[in-house]
Amino acid sequence: MAHSHDDHHKVPADVALRVKALETALTRRGYINPDTLEAIIDTYEHKVGPQNGARVIARAWNDPDFKSRLLDNASSAVGELGFGGIIEGTDVTVVENRPGLHNMVVCTLCSCYPWALLGLPPGWYKSFAYRSRAVSEPRSVLAEFGVELSPDVEVRVWDSTAELRYLVMPQRPEGTEDQDEAALAQLVTRNGMIGTALL
Ligand code: FE
Repeated sequence: MAHSHDDHHKVPADVALRVKALETALTRRGYINPDTLEAIIDTYEHKVGPQNGARVIARAWNDPDFKSRLLDNASSAVGELGFGGIIEGTDVTVVENRPGLHNMVVCTLCSCYPWALLGLPPGWYKSFAYRSRAVSEPRSVLAEFGVELSPDVEVRVWDSTAELRYLVMPQRPEGTEDQDEAALAQLVTRNGMIGTALL
């Protein structure tokens, strides 16, 4: 998944050392349990990621009843697939792309993001440039991601908060009518669910 907006954060060695020192100090004082810490890191590195959101979108494309439950109350509907709740404990709302309507998501304040469905946010999502420009000039930002929308397509920008996070349901690609859910899930990208890519 290589493109210009992807992040490639490297943690400087001195920062890594400081983190390690903090972890050791907190463990010695009994404030944290290293096993719990490992479990949390493992969750975010291996269990939580865009593949979860992709499964949700694929299910919705293939199951109209699930789709209406998802658009009506995503927090509850994603629970049917075993997502949400424990990791996040916040509400998620799914907004649907349609012909003539494109949705994109930002957190103007910081980096609120539907972790349980998308994993950790990419670096650009947290950048000041994206957070400020997504609202003031969404079409320019989209163009930089390679998303060229015709002027008659309405763009709606959704501002995620700590309490309410948004996920975009991309339009189902044409010619995928015969594909099953597993195959469909392969087509759904992280940026597609943020709204900074078309499928
Ligand atoms: Fe935030």
